[in-house]
Amino acid sequence: VKALHLVLVHHPVLDRDGGIVTTAITNLDLHDMSRSGRTYDAVHLWVVHPITAQRTLAERIRAHWVEGSGGKRIPDRARALAILRIVPSLEDVFHGIGGEAGRAGLQVWTTAASSAKHGELTSWPAARAQLAGATRPVALLFGTGWGLAPEVLRDADVRIAPIDGAPGSDFDHLSVRAACAIALDRLRG
Ligand code: SAM
Repeated sequence: VKALHLVLVHHPVLDRDGGIVTTAITNLDLHDMSRSGRTYDAVHLWVVHPITAQRTLAERIRAHWVEGSGGKRIPDRARALAILRIVPSLEDVFHGIGGEAGRAGLQVWTTAASSAKHGELTSWPAARAQLAGATRPVALLFGTGWGLAPEVLRDADVRIAPIDGAPGSDFDHLSVRAACAIALDRLRG
């Protein structure tokens, strides 16, 4: 099966009013999504942030847990945080995964709470089957703030349907950490 990568996007994402913003990195996201990613054999958790100071913070967190005292105290956490790759933009993710081919060298998949029309939606069972038969690496993107910007959703090769909870439930705004874990289990569990 081809490689699966997780991407945590801090820009471009939406704010409450639908504007395009940049969110701050949440330490908990890095730990939680790295542990889930490692559990489901994701190659990397890519953290996209355009602000250098924020990337420096994330690199310090990674270093503490992978090479530093954190990793010595909790070796399992070192193995999880080791999948972190921190980059300025989605372009860097595409080149990191796609190599020479860049964006064409991988598939970009998104999840979203809102099934707002940005193109056709793929069901979870269909996405699972597509991943099993993938011929190019898959980058599964997760947003922060109020979700991935429309242009990111439009550019995706696969837009997976919202994770619906119980039938009839009128709430589906999961934390990015929860959405990532559920998505991984549906795709690879
Ligand atoms: N500040 C929030 C936090 O701490 O989680 C960030 C919310 S952000 C909008 C949540 C992200 O998780 C979304 O961009 C989407 O990628 C994913 N997500 C959340 N709920 C989802 C759902 N019901 N179905 C699919 N993906 C979902």
